[in-house]
Amino acid sequence: MSSTLDRSTTTRTLRRDVSAFLGRVGPLLIGGEWVGSVSGATLDTVDPSTGETLATVAAAEAADIDSAVAAARRALGGPWSRLLPAQRSTLIWRLADLLEANIEEFAELESLDQGKPRIAALTGDLPLAIGQLRYMAGWTDKITGDSLDLSVPYDPTARFHAYTKKEPVGVVGQIIPWNFPINMAAWKIAPALAAGCTVVLKPAEQTPLTALRLGELICEVGFPDGVVNIVPGYGETAGAAIARHPGVDKVAFTGSTEVGREILAAAQGNLKKVSLELGGKSPNVILADADLDAAIAGAATGIFFNKGEVCSAGSRVYAHDSVVAEVAKGMAEAAETLRIGDPLQDTTDLGPLVSTEQLHRVSTMVDEGVRAGAEALTGGGPIDGPGFYYSPTVLGDVAQNSDIVHNEIFGPVVTVQSFGDTAELAELANDSTYGLAAGVWTRDVSAAHEVAARMKAGTVWVNCYNVFSSGLPFGGYKQSGWGREQGAAALELYLETKSVCIQL
Ligand code: ADP
Ligand code: MG
Repeated sequence: MSSTLDRSTTTRTLRRDVSAFLGRVGPLLIGGEWVGSVSGATLDTVDPSTGETLATVAAAEAADIDSAVAAARRALGGPWSRLLPAQRSTLIWRLADLLEANIEEFAELESLDQGKPRIAALTGDLPLAIGQLRYMAGWTDKITGDSLDLSVPYDPTARFHAYTKKEPVGVVGQIIPWNFPINMAAWKIAPALAAGCTVVLKPAEQTPLTALRLGELICEVGFPDGVVNIVPGYGETAGAAIARHPGVDKVAFTGSTEVGREILAAAQGNLKKVSLELGGKSPNVILADADLDAAIAGAATGIFFNKGEVCSAGSRVYAHDSVVAEVAKGMAEAAETLRIGDPLQDTTDLGPLVSTEQLHRVSTMVDEGVRAGAEALTGGGPIDGPGFYYSPTVLGDVAQNSDIVHNEIFGPVVTVQSFGDTAELAELANDSTYGLAAGVWTRDVSAAHEVAARMKAGTVWVNCYNVFSSGLPFGGYKQSGWGREQGAAALELYLETKSVCIQL
């Protein structure tokens, strides 16, 4: 059996503010002005539940990135640097308030552009984005250095006053993906602004709308012109232009590991600072003593949440020999009860994948996995169009060395395997080039700590999964990235340390 799509509610009325925005959206935000791209290039953003174009927006290219970087540089050396930390805080906090005041509009827009349930955007993505802005707003006047006594071995009689001081790294380019568009925008701009940097933000070509609407709020709040520039465009043009730009001091990227490598190569030219939040193939492990109902439900949402378009998705489930059959069966049942349909409907659990390319990518990987011997316990294919829907899929009978266990799928597809003891579990779970996250389900507190310690992953969730909070650092071991976002660690990505040494 497979999940079915509910098409019973295909007529819908958009909110008036959403329709109005779709009518006016188009230009790029550069230096506080809304401008077309120099070449006139545009891109169409599509509603993934219908395949129809929602809006056509300017597509930034190298010349536009040059203007955006110049505007960010002017703002950095001008009014922005003269604001007191508390004044920066007020602006960031006000942006959070405005986002909150417009939360319903943003949730609908995000759902339309991305395909995620409106309710999920309303209760998850947007509160996280608002929380991140407020959390970082609180940091602006708490950024401190140290003072220290020196021991200069070749000048023992000299005395010094020495201190360190944190300074903004400068103009930062931020390139974000399409799975959590508004949340990724907030995760990126909030620490950069708190640190005193200026920003050139490139949303993904698939989902530019909420970032552009955020740009309107940024203008309304009264940030000085050029502090935040928003430049949708394609990766190979706008994204690559940011990554190689000599006027960009730092690039922060969230996306695929493959593109992360390209960004790193492009950043070599001026040795700009680089932080990367990349892919994952995260193990979600269920020990023999786990509360099985909770573990099965948690493993199912761990992969099916946001259609599996989540870098930290629990895409590999490892269950103890004694419970694996029940886990596989339970996850297949959970998949089949998901309500798939129009993401604007409040009853929908699972929307369409973001794009036809993504649908093709997921389908191809699963087809190859099945050809290689995996068995689809449920799902295993796309759902007839219109729209880019894919059945939530549970794969059994997978070999640890198969591609389906190692390659990130970024869709609602999970493999289920078994293990015997903790040593074998650690070997299987850590057998990945990725190291973004892991989950552990157990009632045994010692086992929880032991397994958590053995996971080579930047985040380990115990008896929960995909839990995010603005203070908790998030990022990858191994090829899942460089640096940590959220928490004080995120702020560090946007700060330089200056040592000042004064002889007395
Ligand atoms: P996907 O392949 O799933 O779309 P990507 O990693 O390609 O994921 O996309 C994440 C972000 O990276 C998007 O904003 C995209 O435009 C951008 N991007 C893609 N290719 C490049 C590139 N060569 N240089 C810079 N940015 C890129
Ligand atoms: Mg779109």
